[in-house]
Amino acid sequence: MSRDPIADLRRIAFLLERANEATYRVRAFRSAANALAALPAKEVAERARAGSLTELAGVGDVTARCVTESLAGEEPVYLRRLLATEGSDLDAEATALRTALRGDCHTHSDWSDGGSPIEEMALAAVELGHEYLVLTDHSPRLKVARGLTADRLRRQLDHVARLNEALPEGFRILTGIEVDILADGSLDQDEELLARLDVVVGSVHSGLNDDRAKMTRRMLTAIANPHLDILGHCTGRMVSSRPAGVTGPGDRGHRARTRAESEFDADAVFAACVEHRTAVEINSRPERQDPPKRLIRRALEAGCVFAINTDAHAPGQLDWQRFGCERAARCGVPADRVVNTWTATDLIAWTHAPAT
Ligand SMILES: [Zn+2]
Ligand SMILES: [Zn+2]
Repeated sequence: MSRDPIADLRRIAFLLERANEATYRVRAFRSAANALAALPAKEVAERARAGSLTELAGVGDVTARCVTESLAGEEPVYLRRLLATEGSDLDAEATALRTALRGDCHTHSDWSDGGSPIEEMALAAVELGHEYLVLTDHSPRLKVARGLTADRLRRQLDHVARLNEALPEGFRILTGIEVDILADGSLDQDEELLARLDVVVGSVHSGLNDDRAKMTRRMLTAIANPHLDILGHCTGRMVSSRPAGVTGPGDRGHRARTRAESEFDADAVFAACVEHRTAVEINSRPERQDPPKRLIRRALEAGCVFAINTDAHAPGQLDWQRFGCERAARCGVPADRVVNTWTATDLIAWTHAPAT
């Protein structure tokens, strides 16, 4: 029995992304998968027999070997090695939290600075068992990340509506944005569009060194905006650099560097989040781990709800929720205080509830 070589190549890409491997390595497997998907299965099999797979653009020696093994019915050696060295297991509390999650509220596609098309992100989310994926590409002012103008966002909404018709039942892409919180606390997108979206994540990406009073005012203004649903990576810290050699579209805006936390009055900010029903994001990216645990505990005591998000820029990164769950579990965050443990219907009822 032969295996599905394209599925094996995509699985390898997913595992490499999850392990935070260099983008060019991941790309080799995704490109090969796409090259083969464009051909009739018969031609792939013939080329594997004749040893001419590498004549195809996008297929190299390593990927061709995987395909040959896969067609012979063997688990590719490359895949077997990756599976054997998979990350450590989560403890019981973190596992319970991860199991309770039904979706992810912060993800990027190649419409902004992500590395993959929306449909590939969605299919990876389906495989992870998610019921929904909120697509939150960047807003116009974040030019380095190809932030979407109002027109491009409108086109994206039409595109997502079409994709949703073709996706498996019980899963859907929810519309959203990661909107920049501008210097005066306003949000970087048309009011009418923000109102239409299912979920609005707002983040500070500029002026991270604003003084404490200014940053606090800026955040409070954004939180009071009735369209804001989730406060993204609130301190903006970067705790570690990316591994060497990690570059490419999926990493734009998240370049290798460390950065101290922004300064703001956390008690005032979390109190405002409670008052205006804005969730505090627990960002799972290994280089962010934002907010730090001491602030998660303070937000919890203040009465905030949370969203455990990946901020994924590639399909494999969608599995990084485990890291956020580990940190949330250490701080005692209960599942019912995490908005993405709710169903899509409940989530949207919450984001669209009248402002307080
Ligand atoms: Zn961001
Ligand atoms: Zn993001």
